[in-house]
Amino acid sequence: MKVLVLNSGSSSIKYQLFNMEDESVLARGIVERIGIEDSFLEQENITGEEILWQEDVPDHSRGISLVIDALKDKEKGVLEDMDEINAIGHRGVHGGEKFADSVLITSEVIEKMEEVSELAPLHNPPNLAGIKECENLMPEKPQVGVFDTAFHQTMPEEAYIYALPYEYYQKYGIRRYGFHGTSHKFVSRRAAELLDQDLEDLKIITCHLGNGASVAAVNQGRSVDTSMGLTPLEGLVMGTRCGDIDPAIVPFLQKKEGLDPEEIDSIMNKESGLLGISGISNDSRDVSEAAQQGNKRARLAEKVFNYRVKKYIGAYTAAMGGVDAIVFTAGIGENDGEIRAAILKDLKYLGFELDKENNNSRGQEIEISTSESRVKVFVIPTNEELVIARDTAKIVGERE
Ligand code: AMP
Repeated sequence: MKVLVLNSGSSSIKYQLFNMEDESVLARGIVERIGIEDSFLEQENITGEEILWQEDVPDHSRGISLVIDALKDKEKGVLEDMDEINAIGHRGVHGGEKFADSVLITSEVIEKMEEVSELAPLHNPPNLAGIKECENLMPEKPQVGVFDTAFHQTMPEEAYIYALPYEYYQKYGIRRYGFHGTSHKFVSRRAAELLDQDLEDLKIITCHLGNGASVAAVNQGRSVDTSMGLTPLEGLVMGTRCGDIDPAIVPFLQKKEGLDPEEIDSIMNKESGLLGISGISNDSRDVSEAAQQGNKRARLAEKVFNYRVKKYIGAYTAAMGGVDAIVFTAGIGENDGEIRAAILKDLKYLGFELDKENNNSRGQEIEISTSESRVKVFVIPTNEELVIARDTAKIVGERE
């Protein structure tokens, strides 16, 4: 079975074509700058051959037909015919309370996605555009939606209800949903495999630390709490997002600076986090470099970032009544041993000991706790596309 995985963002479409016989990636690519000048498609196939097409891509519809053309390209493509694609898996960002698992896309599912679009106005409309365009181009192909929020639907009420008047939850669905669920699910399951233990017996804290960052408490294989909330703004310090702040800061700043809701939202989402504190960059590598050269605000940004992750690890240990394993994943989590060491430095009280040599490794699956360490800590590269491909193959397989 061949599965095309699509991740349609506001101005880009990332894609991977999987051969599910051996889970190999036949081709991966991206269409960038959709609806903006200088758009292009870039693709690399399984033998390393690359395509770069610079052409006008006014909308997602054109973007997806370009993806199909690249996959079918006579010289550097990997398909003879579009019919070789058996199914399409879509990354869906916000499934609200409607989807607790991946689903086969039907007109009813599209309707439900439209209903929750208000909760993710930047993400859900492009997801929907991708789905509709695939339906136009390949009407007979089954499509599956895999939602970032789905894994966290197992959270208990006390973890997801905000202490606002309850009617806002009832009227608008204001509650914690959590994101990066596909990643937290993938790495927590992989940690259980590495430990050779049943997920049912494990309390795992998963730290997805990338430009967007979140922590999840995974008890007996189920997400019981996570740091992102109604939107991906809550929780950890991120590249440009502030994470947790006193909510009273919002009206205070609006009054002081004369800001409207869109402006304050943009400050918290795009001008805060590592960038906001350091004044240098949202990229942790630039911030680290500046800190090493003695820049005090860059050093402060790193410290605030690390401290916040440490605090969540403590909170989720308390929430689950203990922790057996901690996992680091995504750009920073997979690659930055210094940040991992700084976060873990004060966790000796949990019975954790760092294997310094293993912690120097980058981007590969490895245990970074010593054999004596009671709490096991792993670096596990995330693979959200593979989860989407697997879920798609499973759902389509069950249907046949
Ligand atoms: P992501 O959103 O998962 O792509 O992660 C992006 C973040 O990961 C950025 O802050 C990068 O600085 C960081 N990152 C990516 N690669 C590395 C690396 N090799 N070493 C340190 N940080 C990295």
